[in-house]
Amino acid sequence: MKAAVVTDFGKPLEIQDLTVPVPGSGEVLVRMEASGICHTDIHAAHGDWPVKPRPPFIPGHEGVGLVQSAGPGVSQDLIGKRVAIPWLGKSCGNCRYCVSGWATLCPQQQNTGYSVDGCYAEYAIGHVSGIVEVPEGVPPFDAVPLTCAGVTTYKAIKVARVQPAERVAVFGVGGLGHLALQYARLVGGLVAAVDLEPDKLGLAHRLGADQIVNARTHDPVEELKSAGGVDVAVVLAAAPKAFEQAYRSLNPGGRLVLVAMPADDAALSVPIFETTVGGISVIGSIVGTRQDLAEVFALHAAGRTQVIAESRRLEQVNEAFDEVLGGRAEARLVIEF
Ligand code: ZN
Ligand code: ZN
Repeated sequence: MKAAVVTDFGKPLEIQDLTVPVPGSGEVLVRMEASGICHTDIHAAHGDWPVKPRPPFIPGHEGVGLVQSAGPGVSQDLIGKRVAIPWLGKSCGNCRYCVSGWATLCPQQQNTGYSVDGCYAEYAIGHVSGIVEVPEGVPPFDAVPLTCAGVTTYKAIKVARVQPAERVAVFGVGGLGHLALQYARLVGGLVAAVDLEPDKLGLAHRLGADQIVNARTHDPVEELKSAGGVDVAVVLAAAPKAFEQAYRSLNPGGRLVLVAMPADDAALSVPIFETTVGGISVIGSIVGTRQDLAEVFALHAAGRTQVIAESRRLEQVNEAFDEVLGGRAEARLVIEF
């Protein structure tokens, strides 16, 4: 099978011809139809974060395809089904987090395209504790960005407990942000989109953002404050400055949701007095559970969300990374097989 492989941190990915893997106990072999490019894959390929993957490895955690075969202990009924392989590739199912609906915090989790091989390949292995069936009504090309960008931002809106008519600022519009603003609107939030790129702000406008803020030409804190401040700020841009601006735009009772992860383990400095007196919450939010992803698919099948993505070939993976890093991709780039 063809696969894009990280051979060493910071090096271009190599397209290699590898043996198709054999599914082990609890695993399925999935013939990939499409696989999304997430900024996390670039961080993985560069070894940007404190916990690093071990090259050589295959990145990619937005994989969607058809189950080709099933390993021991897996129902044969899964064969032929369309499934998504998300970031949360496998969890233990028994720890306090797994049994209370927080498998995303399972200390024994395996992460697709990071601690185990991922989906930049014609075939990928999924574990039954991680895969999610893609319903009829969600085309594979749409299912791909929903598998990480969708579930991650859906969860961020959920943990922020957005109430109808609350003001929600989305910092960073691209692959995640274009979905975040739709979920914020779905629960009744009034949405401000903040970005540096006019194209992305245009996209946010088309998707129904109530306020558009160009952070290159205007101070987003002033713009947001003068429009009434924000009750929830979701940070999807990896620039440390965006986190500070998001914090400073909050109203009393506001919630800051951290989703993007800058390289080099950057720190956020928060004033203690204002945080305490203002009743501010700072919340970290990492992807979502299988149930969250099933809900994301259900909303899409019901016509409540739009996915904006462009198709690429596996051989274009390095150029696609450059497009994402240069802010040139409007939203998601999806490798089609
Ligand atoms: Zn991702
Ligand atoms: Zn667990």
